Amino acid sequence: MDRSTCERASAASAEMDGSNRSPTCRFCRARLTHLFVDLGMSPLCQAHISPEGLNRMEPFYPLRAFVCHDCFLVQIEEYVSPAEIFSEYAYLSSYSDRWVEHARRYAEAMVRRLGLDARSRVVELASNDGYLLQHFVRAGIPVLGVEPAANAAKVAAHKGIPTLVRFFGRDAAREIAEKFGRADLLLGNNVLAHVPLLNDFVAGMKILLKPGGVITMEFPHLHRLMEGNQFDTIYHEHFSYFSFFTVEKVFAAHGLTLFDVEELRTHGGSLRIYARHTEDPSFPVSPAVEALRRCELDAGLRRLETYAAFPERVKETKRALLEFLIRAKRAGKRLAGYGAPGKGNTLLNYCGIRTDFLDYTVDRNPSKQGKFTPGTHIPILHPDRIAETRPDYVFILPWNLTDEIVQQMAHIRDWGGKFVVPMPTVRVLDA
Ligand SMILES: [Zn+2]
Repeated sequence: MDRSTCERASAASAEMDGSNRSPTCRFCRARLTHLFVDLGMSPLCQAHISPEGLNRMEPFYPLRAFVCHDCFLVQIEEYVSPAEIFSEYAYLSSYSDRWVEHARRYAEAMVRRLGLDARSRVVELASNDGYLLQHFVRAGIPVLGVEPAANAAKVAAHKGIPTLVRFFGRDAAREIAEKFGRADLLLGNNVLAHVPLLNDFVAGMKILLKPGGVITMEFPHLHRLMEGNQFDTIYHEHFSYFSFFTVEKVFAAHGLTLFDVEELRTHGGSLRIYARHTEDPSFPVSPAVEALRRCELDAGLRRLETYAAFPERVKETKRALLEFLIRAKRAGKRLAGYGAPGKGNTLLNYCGIRTDFLDYTVDRNPSKQGKFTPGTHIPILHPDRIAETRPDYVFILPWNLTDEIVQQMAHIRDWGGKFVVPMPTVRVLDA
């Protein structure tokens, strides 16, 4: 895709007008006429409400995903500008121990695999609070973080991680390349889904990657989302949902070849892709690439019927969850939530779960404590509250971190408390 085509594509998807015309695909510009799932109206997932905001109106936006019949990109329309969403982002990666550990192992593996040293440069897009780059810094490798959320960038700067506060795209890539040099390793974890101008972003990566350099990106795998009924990972901050098939197409359009891929357990099942310049022969394409293509083909990810079956499974997941909650409340049980993550917002709003079911939820992130969940107004408290009130059930909203939370909160078994996990179907974890 040449530059002007990309810009027209970006402009076309940005100007979706809400009239009878259907929106266009943010990658290939095809008209989006196939609904993937409609989760009703939902507030922004990071818009936690302060006590004084409880009596004010809250903006709700349609949470409706489409699948492109041409490239199979699953996507939601851009109702809110990224500047509004990401300039002050409540999610700081360092609050999850598991996530920091995942980053440490990744950094070690990459230093070994690519032979990085003090002459190399590692650039991370959406570097958050520096939870990942800190591991490269410790190994003596020059790094640069690019992060649009000023609050997260400030935390990173305190850790000694140079961080530019800005959105990434072609313009940023050119400036960074000129000022700091191009990247031997260019990485981005859980950022590709958050990018509204997808073509501009991937084209920027092509510009910033040194000849012979490697890009790695991690993002939730659409195949796992569909298989595990993980509809709650759909929210306004996530503009796109990728199969390997689609992401390969997107990268290829910008002169980047995916030469390796790993399946990870993070976020309910993610992919880590490895890309290089298409004209660079130094990394041969691994057999894992063809194996995953084949696996997705067999799973029907290139047929619209497969996508059309998803909404009914989402509705059934909701019904089963509400049945469980109603039964528990009728039996006089007390329930508390654990966590106030983005996915919790979709789940609570779509299922209509408020303080009629969950007395409160808790979160380790102090900036969320004392606030209320968006739309559903469930109080968010300090995790110690669980030991004080001894609920019968602790309902785990960030179910992707279940193992970690069950370990941290093992003491609920002292009073016979049990954990409840909502996905792929509601279940109680027996002690
Ligand atoms: Zn498309």
